[in-house]
Amino acid sequence: MKNVDVIIVGSGIAGINLAWEFYHRNISFVIISQPKLSQSSLIAPGVWNPIVFKRITTTWNASLLINELYRFYNRIENLLQKNLIQNLKIWHVLNSHDEEKLWIQKAEMYPRFLNSIQTFENQYHSGLKKDIKVGEVIQCGRLNTSEYIYYSIKFFENQNWFIESFFYPDLLYIKENQIEYDSIRAKHIVFCEGYKVKDNPFFSFVPLKPAKGEIIEIETKNNILPENTILHKHISIIPNGHHKYLIGSNYDWENLNDEPTEGVKQKFLKEFEELFDVDYEVIGHYAGVRPAADRRPILGHHPEYKNLWIFNGLGTKGIMLSPYCSKILAEAIFNGKCIDDEINVTRFLK
Ligand SMILES: Cc1cc2nc3c(=O)[nH]c(=O)nc-3n(C[C@H](O)[C@H](O)[C@H](O)COP(=O)(O)OP(=O)(O)OC[C@H]3O[C@@H](n4cnc5c(N)ncnc54)[C@H](O)[C@@H]3O)c2cc1C
Repeated sequence: MKNVDVIIVGSGIAGINLAWEFYHRNISFVIISQPKLSQSSLIAPGVWNPIVFKRITTTWNASLLINELYRFYNRIENLLQKNLIQNLKIWHVLNSHDEEKLWIQKAEMYPRFLNSIQTFENQYHSGLKKDIKVGEVIQCGRLNTSEYIYYSIKFFENQNWFIESFFYPDLLYIKENQIEYDSIRAKHIVFCEGYKVKDNPFFSFVPLKPAKGEIIEIETKNNILPENTILHKHISIIPNGHHKYLIGSNYDWENLNDEPTEGVKQKFLKEFEELFDVDYEVIGHYAGVRPAADRRPILGHHPEYKNLWIFNGLGTKGIMLSPYCSKILAEAIFNGKCIDDEINVTRFLK
């Protein structure tokens, strides 16, 4: 029998970041995951953005989450000796005078995140069809999620802390102070299964409303955006190095699978061509399912089995939420700290 403090199920951004949090606290763990079962973390462009554009407000706990994410990812970049995060700004297209007026008001309210309005001028950017007014969001950035997960798994594999395998809940043997699975004995197990938690009988009471999303990647001959800038209108156009750009995304609550579709690709290209007139080639098309519930993370233990935990509900903001949530969960499991009601899985039991 292998003895560890925790079994982590899943190696998306939730499982990987929780594993790093345990690593820094000297808590032993093993990750069991079938990484391709759910692609969400692997295909996400990995952008963090403190602003909700619909009402131009800050996202939940924006300042705290951004402070935490820099601390967290910088530490792992140093440990892995890899450049994995990039600071970016987002230019949000403003379509009317009313939107510009609102932006000016909001920029006074949120000076940490919003800068003044700029003009994205077509005389300096050959592919841009016409000048556009944009509101600038700062303190944004991108984690290269696929590389981050790849190098993290490699690191954990080298220590024998990663098992590539499907996890079968039926094979879990639960005792009062420990659990056993296959040849592993642990004090706790944390399920970080993304939207696949729907197949987990222990947490089937969680009312997830997962949303499929797609992303395409194009290659052009020119730089169509200023350096380190994402352009956001209905879709985001995200620089991906060497004249490549990621374009997305959409929300589909019906077809919950990882299959890209032609219709969505055409929709993204139409939006892109409304802004730019350049030659391009589509070089990639990906899809994944976001594990979303009520716009808040889902953390906590099973109502009956106190050593079975869940880490889910990252929705559209996995990169930003998961460093903070990993800390909260580690403190709850090993230091008995309370998890706030608004992010506690118990909210679904009331
Ligand atoms: C198109 C798209 C774009 C996105 N863009 C962004 C973005 O720019 N920024 C951002 O912050 N977020 C973005 N997101 C959201 C982000 O991807 C999610 O918040 C995040 O990936 C959720 O991570 P997770 O670890 O909870 O779930 P997942 O990534 O789904 O990971 C779950 C893991 O568990 C494994 N697993 C599940 N069940 C089992 C089992 N029984 N046995 C073994 N393994 C199992 C899966 O294979 C996977 O490894 C985007 C999502 C999509 C779809």
